[in-house]
Amino acid sequence: MRAQIRAIKGIPAPTGTCQYSHDQAVHGKFERDGTSYCGVCKSDQRRASRTRAATPTSTGETTCH
Ligand SMILES: [Zn+2]
Repeated sequence: MRAQIRAIKGIPAPTGTCQYSHDQAVHGKFERDGTSYCGVCKSDQRRASRTRAATPTSTGETTCH
């Protein structure tokens, strides 16, 4: 019973959905330390941070005299 082993180790089984309704039976993943996370949410966060970093922040500012 893999579920029992998980319970013994204190690792929650990826069941149901995450806070954004992604099916954790499909997208549920584990970090190397056993922490569970949603693969879709993680890739979305990674993409969002990358988009934010790529956006130039110097809007309307001119340093040329
Ligand atoms: Zn998710």
